[in-house]
Amino acid sequence: MKCFFCDQPAQGVCRFCGRAICKEHAKTSPYIITVYIGKDNTPKSIVVADALYCGTCKPHPEPVEIPEIY
Ligand SMILES: [Zn+2]
Ligand SMILES: [Zn+2]
Repeated sequence: MKCFFCDQPAQGVCRFCGRAICKEHAKTSPYIITVYIGKDNTPKSIVVADALYCGTCKPHPEPVEIPEIY
């Protein structure tokens, strides 16, 4: 697997879009694992603070509301 940007051996894969990225091009970004409803009925999210991120794709910065599920 090679880096999407520079063809060096990739160190990992972007959590958001799946592009392979080398150490040099790897960035980190908060990644929301899951969203749940807390005891007080407010939605809460569990976030990984420094998930691998390619720096190019555009993950939504906040949890997207999906009211039809609840
Ligand atoms: Zn690279
Ligand atoms: Zn990406």
